[in-house]
Amino acid sequence: MPATARLRHLFSESPPGAVTRFAPSPTGHLHLGHAHSALFAASLAEAAGGRFLLRLEDIDRSRCRPEFAAAIEEDLAWLGLAWDGPVRAQSAHMPAYRAALDRLAGRGLLYPCFCTRADIQREVAAAGHAPHLAPRGPDGPLYPGTCRRLSPAEREDRIAAGQPYALRLDMAAALAEAPPGLSFHELGEGRLRCDPGQFGDAVLARKDVPASYHLCVTHDDALQGVTLVTRGEDLRPATHLHRLLQALLEWPEPAYAHHPLILGPDGKRLAKREGAPALRALRAAGQAPAAVRAMAGWPPGVRPG
Ligand code: GLU
Repeated sequence: MPATARLRHLFSESPPGAVTRFAPSPTGHLHLGHAHSALFAASLAEAAGGRFLLRLEDIDRSRCRPEFAAAIEEDLAWLGLAWDGPVRAQSAHMPAYRAALDRLAGRGLLYPCFCTRADIQREVAAAGHAPHLAPRGPDGPLYPGTCRRLSPAEREDRIAAGQPYALRLDMAAALAEAPPGLSFHELGEGRLRCDPGQFGDAVLARKDVPASYHLCVTHDDALQGVTLVTRGEDLRPATHLHRLLQALLEWPEPAYAHHPLILGPDGKRLAKREGAPALRALRAAGQAPAAVRAMAGWPPGVRPG
């Protein structure tokens, strides 16, 4: 299906009153790939007479900067996008993420992991895997479970000694508690079966940041009443884990629409580090918002309404 026809089809499937969101991390300036994602989210909400929210995923304070956050709002407004209600900045809500982690920990579904990257590599090598053949999940090499096997006393000692730790989900225990046959509804495709086990013991709180993307995004989508999660196809695998967290924490299930990533002239996905032009650079070069929307794969006429 050509891109425009596909979009129109998705508009017709957007749940009535859909609440969508655009959730960038303020680690740099928005580029055309972000513009595509934001226009996708806003249009699906508009098509369904719903609401479009803006959320800043800024829990990693070492990589996020306030000037990028301000630039995001300015660039989106320049592009012609208006969001509903206040912008939620995740960094202001760390106690809420802590409370969600505590609920999982209280059921024995989390364990502290003291491993460094090097420890994990060593363990994987010791299990006889060449690094490039070691089993991988969507977030990287599968964790070999070293710290899952620590005794409660050993955990306490290491925490008391001030060793930094992440919190991992005990995937086997989590799957045993979750209802069987988890699935998600992908617009245009129907119900798809979930395989959260592909993540292994996923990190839900990092050593350096006391939460993680997977936890915060699922928490916020539930809290903010997001009923249609829109994002790039690269994040589709994360949905398998997000559905598991929603089931464990009794959060409502949204629908999903993952959009293809827009590619640069070289056929590679646009990313800041590969020199994709920032929206503000295009603006400074004299491009009009409508022209930039078209460059972002949003030709005139595809907006509903
Ligand atoms: N913050 C994520 C990103 O910038 C997007 C999260 C999401 O839409 O689920 O890639």
